[in-house]
Amino acid sequence: IYILGIESSCDDTAASVIYNGRILSNVVASQKIHEAYGGVVPELASRAHQQNIVPVVHQAIEKAGIKKEQLNAIAFTKGPGLMGSLLVGTSFAKSLAYGLNIPLIDVNHMQGHILAHFIDEDGFEKPPFPFLAMTISGGHTQIVKVENYFDMTVIGETIDDAVGEAFDKSGKILGLGYPAGPEIDRRAALGNPKAFQFTKPKVDGLNFSFSGFKTAVLYFIQREVKANPNFIEENLNDICASIQYTIIGILIDKLKLATKQTGIKHIAIGGGVSANSGIRNALKDGEQKFGWTTYIPKFEFTTDNAAMIAIVGYLKYLEGDFAEQDVVASARLKI
Ligand code: ATP
Ligand code: FE
Repeated sequence: IYILGIESSCDDTAASVIYNGRILSNVVASQKIHEAYGGVVPELASRAHQQNIVPVVHQAIEKAGIKKEQLNAIAFTKGPGLMGSLLVGTSFAKSLAYGLNIPLIDVNHMQGHILAHFIDEDGFEKPPFPFLAMTISGGHTQIVKVENYFDMTVIGETIDDAVGEAFDKSGKILGLGYPAGPEIDRRAALGNPKAFQFTKPKVDGLNFSFSGFKTAVLYFIQREVKANPNFIEENLNDICASIQYTIIGILIDKLKLATKQTGIKHIAIGGGVSANSGIRNALKDGEQKFGWTTYIPKFEFTTDNAAMIAIVGYLKYLEGDFAEQDVVASARLKI
């Protein structure tokens, strides 16, 4: 079964062709234009999707070495995401499916991040059900209890900012470029994680909050810079290490609580922030310390991509779960 996946929920235009569970192509066009604005500008994103979608889909089919007539179905991201961005992928997927007279499959982007673990990839083990999925990205922070492919429940999520925003906004305060996550990660490896203390937000249960953390970083930096104008330059690696250490502590605390509450010890992570080396190390350490097993997907399947949309499409195809031509994008689609 050949499935074409199309992803356009935020600022990456992506297309992928999979044959049964295996990836034949995985093309992503990232939009550089937003860097100048320090964040994604929705209007610019949807315009760039319009420019990218035809070449990106074309490339994905070509790289897969097939003809579009061989496709069995087209899967696309229905939501959640930016409405203007989602509309581009949705309308394109609809017209292509209509033109080829093949089924259309709507996919929830967050389920995609989780089910990316079921892509057949040598050297990567699939998590057994039930497992806990922690999706950490620029737009989301969730812990999901996954009983089966399509039986999943969000048991914790952020009540304000996402963890990626905690990285990016802290980085902005420090004068780093956007997105700042990767640079904080790089610098953190060179700094002392205990150099500075930031209090962790107090949020009951399995929910997260990161907006107070960002403010704490801001006030701390303002205070220190007042005393020493060169404070940031002189301590940048230590500041990054301390920020990252605090964020990792918040995530690990919640995971510990989640494993305790559910009795589930298989943990799968996804989303762009799961690229963070400190988080990966802390999860691995937890295997000995807390007796859990962790599943970390291949990097290209953690950030926004269309292979994860295609794999959900494939799983839905097997169940005969198709969408109609009047399906609409949904910016706030829930799991
Ligand atoms: P969503 O997936 O919620 O729609 P998104 O498009 O922002 O949102 P991703 O592309 O999955 O999500 O992730 C981008 C985020 O990941 C950014 O906030 C970026 O700073 C962060 N990030 C990427 N690499 C790292 C890293 N090594 N350490 C920390 N954060 C990182
Ligand atoms: Fe995403």
